[in-house]
Amino acid sequence: MDISRGDVLGSSGASDLFQILRDGRSRTRTELANLTGLARSTIALRVDALMQLGLVSPTADAPSTGGRPSSQFALATDIKVVLAVDIGASHVRIAVSDPAGRPLEEDSANIEVARGPEAVLNWVIEAGDALIKKTGRSLSDLLAIGVGLPGPVEYSTGLPINPPIMPGWDRFDVPAWLKGHFNVPILVDNDVNIMALGEREVAWPDVEHLIFVKVATGIGSGLISGGILQRGAQGIAGDIGHVQVPRGADVPCHCGNRGCLEALASGPAMARALREQGHDTASSQDVVELVKHGNLDAIQAVRQAGRDLGEVLTACVSLVNPSVIVIGGSMAQAGEHLIAGVREVVYARSMPLATAHLQITQSNVGANAAVLGAGMLAIHHALSPARVEAMVSNIDAIAAGA
Ligand SMILES: [Zn+2]
Repeated sequence: MDISRGDVLGSSGASDLFQILRDGRSRTRTELANLTGLARSTIALRVDALMQLGLVSPTADAPSTGGRPSSQFALATDIKVVLAVDIGASHVRIAVSDPAGRPLEEDSANIEVARGPEAVLNWVIEAGDALIKKTGRSLSDLLAIGVGLPGPVEYSTGLPINPPIMPGWDRFDVPAWLKGHFNVPILVDNDVNIMALGEREVAWPDVEHLIFVKVATGIGSGLISGGILQRGAQGIAGDIGHVQVPRGADVPCHCGNRGCLEALASGPAMARALREQGHDTASSQDVVELVKHGNLDAIQAVRQAGRDLGEVLTACVSLVNPSVIVIGGSMAQAGEHLIAGVREVVYARSMPLATAHLQITQSNVGANAAVLGAGMLAIHHALSPARVEAMVSNIDAIAAGA
């Protein structure tokens, strides 16, 4: 075995170089040498290894045949891909995205998650295959798959744990089922966490401390602190839907407790409260429609839901001091009324320093947040220093063995 060659390629060095190139900017070997302090000859070897992996490509003035090779390099966005999967209560969306997170091809279907994991995941496999083909790639170009599920997920194993609206999914091995076909790393997380990733990536790339709150059929939040998505010990960090709110004392919740935030401020809870006032509101969407038509009862119900949410978020603000709180999910379409209720309580009840620069705002990314976030989940894993290092070591080993 030729150890010196492996040494020269220095897998960790190649990975460091790649992390510099991940921002998508083109750089010459000289610029890379200046940035890293490495010799140009070393840079050349490492760039070659990254090009072999399809992670980096030449960018400027590449001659079509022969001639001098191009002298600038950047993250390759035309070779490798990830699959991004957003599984909701009654829909599945899937995208093939490039390593910069841009969706290249997308598909969706109205499938009830209650049909069970096999029906839903088999659709994902079929649609994923078709989309990869459509982009002109093959399965060998797939780096990883990110999946969002509408329930609690143990992130370390990718298993859904007692998900309330997902019969048949409890502890179903989602990663193993997909890996059986795609054979790449499969990352599974709850939908609110991937929405937080997507929202941050698109709308708040420079914000380090952000809480994304989804208000829809259920209520949950995704917490980004110090620039990193915080999942907690078991993956359930941010699950604020079952915190008790003062107004809720006797209202039963599907979790078995009483007075939960979700039992008072979710879309179905607002629809139910409005039915009791004589309105024909069967769903969250009906509530949004009433608000849009200026119905006073509906506006008041949404604003009160915002205040309930504000009670819980006030505690979150004290605990993690975010600079942005984003409200998303279908009820965010009720517009400023929900946000106004949240602001009313949070600004009144928090310490001045905590709210001095705190923005509370509506989601910018909307329905795309989940699929974009699922893509980011896959990319963050596939292009992490450890994974790139492993890929480079692998080609080093093949070269050494040859
Ligand atoms: Zn509850």
